Amino acid sequence: MSEIKFDWETGIDEVCTKLKDKKLIGIQLPDGLKVKSHTITKKIKELTGANVILWGEPTYGACDLADRPLEEVGADALIHLGHMPMPYHSEFYAIPTYFVPVKHTGKLNLKEDSLKEIKEILPKKIGIVTTAQHLHMIEEATEKLENIGFDASVTKGGPRLAAAGQLLGCNSSSARRLKVDGFLYIGTGLFHPLTVALSTGKRVACVDPHNAKVSEADPKPFLKQRYAAISIAKDAKRWAVLFSNQIGQKRIELAERMSKALEDAGKEVIMVGSIHQSHEQLLGMGIDAAVITACPRLAIEDGPTWPMPLLTVPETQIVLGRIKPDPYPFDEFA
Ligand code: SF4
Repeated sequence: MSEIKFDWETGIDEVCTKLKDKKLIGIQLPDGLKVKSHTITKKIKELTGANVILWGEPTYGACDLADRPLEEVGADALIHLGHMPMPYHSEFYAIPTYFVPVKHTGKLNLKEDSLKEIKEILPKKIGIVTTAQHLHMIEEATEKLENIGFDASVTKGGPRLAAAGQLLGCNSSSARRLKVDGFLYIGTGLFHPLTVALSTGKRVACVDPHNAKVSEADPKPFLKQRYAAISIAKDAKRWAVLFSNQIGQKRIELAERMSKALEDAGKEVIMVGSIHQSHEQLLGMGIDAAVITACPRLAIEDGPTWPMPLLTVPETQIVLGRIKPDPYPFDEFA
């Protein structure tokens, strides 16, 4: 098994050389890194001489920055750990914002057994995709797969993505832009490979970078659950249209369009804004169904725990008869 370590220190060292003139630096950490918050804060203080504050609200991605609240409390820079930037937002930060991706180090170490399993799942012409943590493993995977006869490609996605082969839970343009018959995903969990499986309809083999174990992303249970939610929502009379004010989750015009479309279909509609959306925000409002214009994965991953159907925008368009239910329309955040 290859040894995979977690490296955030190199990125902090690099960023801090640019922050020597700052007085108050805000940091944002994904939940998985909160255990390191004392170490990280101390290191930034030592390297810059600035005071450092941790922004305590959860952050789920580069879509979810604390630049504006930190500006309000007087911070003159933000260090956001764990994600790569969304390049098209770089002109709009309220304070200078620096991204420190947390990288797994080490090699992927794809052995014969794993390669054989990948061959059993995938056709010859494939794309390779991954998350920010494992981008450095793409090269090794490409070489080994080509050695056993695969035609493997990697490409840069749209402006929401910072690197070739990078995926987000709401954007698979680095996969969709390739003319291939299947995909290899390097990483852990189902969240990201499901983006590719749902948005392309093609087979996705997953290789775990910790142990090179191979599995296949199966979208069927999710599709079943999505079509069930769509079906229940067809009878809903009172709708909430949810939107976020966060830089990379804000689709206010889309929320207004959805609101109008639902009203035109005879529904009662209320638009509800917040940083992060939850069903508790709708308590007591008599809402029968909700559509989310912020992070579409909230509907897919958390929707089944809500007391009313929570749909993505394209799923709501199915309810309204504006698009066909098949193939499943994934809500791609452009
Ligand atoms: S999937 Fe959701 S949390 Fe992740 S980048 Fe997209 S909008 Fe943000």
